[in-house]
Amino acid sequence: MGFIALSNLTAHAADYAGPLFDAHLHYNTEAWNGQTGPHPVPDVFARMQRSGVKAIVSNSRPNDGTLALAQDRDEAAAAGVTVVPFVRLYRNRADYDSWFRDDSIYDMVLAELARGTPVGPYRGIGEFHLYDSANANGTVAKKLMVLAEEKQLVVLAHVDDVAIDLLMANTPSKGQKLRLIWAHTGIGGTPVKRVEDLMAKYPGLMGELSYRPGLTCDGGVLCPEWRAIMLKYPGRFLIGSDTWINQRWQQYEDNMLAYRVWLGNLPPAVAKKIAWENGLALFGMRY
Ligand SMILES: [Zn+2]
Repeated sequence: MGFIALSNLTAHAADYAGPLFDAHLHYNTEAWNGQTGPHPVPDVFARMQRSGVKAIVSNSRPNDGTLALAQDRDEAAAAGVTVVPFVRLYRNRADYDSWFRDDSIYDMVLAELARGTPVGPYRGIGEFHLYDSANANGTVAKKLMVLAEEKQLVVLAHVDDVAIDLLMANTPSKGQKLRLIWAHTGIGGTPVKRVEDLMAKYPGLMGELSYRPGLTCDGGVLCPEWRAIMLKYPGRFLIGSDTWINQRWQQYEDNMLAYRVWLGNLPPAVAKKIAWENGLALFGMRY
């Protein structure tokens, strides 16, 4: 998925040095596997702490991973990390391809919401994927968008721009009230002008920037058109680790350092919003 060699990155005086809100994190079973995996709870909190990550949107396949992070309050407190739990729609890999029409997924979401977590209620649903945007009109996808808006749950969606319009159209407010984190802000390289049009159309649309093609130019600096859209919509972007495979845990600190480099290309107040404050605002958090 287009990894950049980051091992030569080191902190520079111009880099953003403040707190980070990791708005797209997975703690999947292969990372910890009931604490016998390569990245048990203390390992991942230590990586966040070393990276200056002070809050995370956590979701996992299955949801036990998020519950494990939420359970370990002492570990989280020691690392200074606030866990914001989301219900993932996947019990296993097979669910990626059918969740949008599978009523047992909807029932699982309701059961998880009713149960809650040791750090309080779930605050969102996702991440989910739509590899074919037409599946945004699946029966369960539609029901989940209605549920999200009604329960004020934030949606984390890995979809294309066409699916953003479809998901938004399926909410009672036609996309005027739903808060949706667009994972990768168009991983297929949606043109920045199209991203800008969607931002204008949907006030609750937030763009998360992991894996976004064309975001950074030579030397890891922000490309001009991205700098421009961030200056136009400073309250609408977020950063995330997307630890979807264990390799991403191994790269966690380097990936956060790479964010700090381009955040340093923005006016400090804008950098702080994208790095940190937009996440706090999205979940009504004080710090
Ligand atoms: Zn992801």
